[in-house]
Amino acid sequence: MNRVYNFSAGPSMLPLEVLEKAASELVCYGESGMSVMEMSHRSPDYEAIINDAEAMLRKLMNIPDNYKVLFLQGGASTQFAAVPLNLIGRTGKADYVVSGQFSGKAYKEAQKMGYDVKCIATTKEDNFDHIPTVTKDMVRPDAAYVHVCFNNTIYGTKYGYIPDTGDVPLVADMSSCIISEPVDVSKFGVIYAGAQKNMAPAGLTLVIVREDLLDYADPKMPTMLEWKTMAENGSMYNTPPCYAIYMAKLVYEWILGMGGLDVMKEKNVKKAKVLYDYLDSQSYYVAPVKPDSRSLMNVTFVTGDADLDKKFASEAAKAGLKNLKGHRSVGGMRASIYNAMPYEGVVALVEFMKKFAAENPKA
Ligand SMILES: *Cc1c(COP(=O)(O)O)cnc(C)c1O
Repeated sequence: MNRVYNFSAGPSMLPLEVLEKAASELVCYGESGMSVMEMSHRSPDYEAIINDAEAMLRKLMNIPDNYKVLFLQGGASTQFAAVPLNLIGRTGKADYVVSGQFSGKAYKEAQKMGYDVKCIATTKEDNFDHIPTVTKDMVRPDAAYVHVCFNNTIYGTKYGYIPDTGDVPLVADMSSCIISEPVDVSKFGVIYAGAQKNMAPAGLTLVIVREDLLDYADPKMPTMLEWKTMAENGSMYNTPPCYAIYMAKLVYEWILGMGGLDVMKEKNVKKAKVLYDYLDSQSYYVAPVKPDSRSLMNVTFVTGDADLDKKFASEAAKAGLKNLKGHRSVGGMRASIYNAMPYEGVVALVEFMKKFAAENPKA
């Protein structure tokens, strides 16, 4: 059976080379005589895997030495609670920017705990069709942190700038844009991401945290959510998501092998351009996102007719272009074109869009 072009928002495509490498080592890893799935996480073989994964990620993202890298479980959604629990102790209050559904959930989670949280900017009234402008004067100077979602997976928007929050640490959910392009880690206090969009299979959550931010946890917080405990134990306070970390290592290796995040970005820009250029050149499909906020990873568009949208997704699937239906809360179409999506997949999508438009004239 042939592999399809899978435009799923997550879990999503993994690079074919990575899957093939994993398959070749699936039953017996190196000289160990066993699968990575069967290894003790305390064994020398596994220690080498997790240490390599961290070293490769540090190299890839150019992570400064005063940041800890944590490989955790629970998904990005668990970090919605872990972020306030770990950081609120700095000052007792926190600021949030709500630019879509996930940042809204993060905001609500912090509110639920009864903390003093404030939404300092939102684009809700514009259906989240662009990224809000966040300036230093909007941030409460005594906030423990400012939380943003850097790429809004559902709406297809991305920050084109890093907000200047002064001395207040910036915390970013980068689940759907991590390792898609270079980012200056030193501008952030914390970066976190669920791995299943652009890094690995589901089950792994990455946290990159500046060391000086490890000392503010609520003493009553659950141990499993405490970054400091995880940092002191090299992400091995308990059993880490061993196999997903191994897969992430293979993905990091794949990107390093092609030249790192500058090269990755070049490829991603080239792919997204094919799609956006076509969207801008015609009127059958509409791209709702404002051009300055467009995501490189998730591209949303609509025909303006819900029945046609439905037909589009189902006929595209038959043509080997899977999972183009938009998120259930917004409808329309969404093409997630993460690192693993080849250029050819995007070209095939645009060819299909042209054909569909020609064959399905609007009334
Ligand atoms: C998918 C996603 C989440 C939720 O991730 P889980 O790992 O399923 O909890 C949170 N934030 C963003 C930006 C996402 O894309």
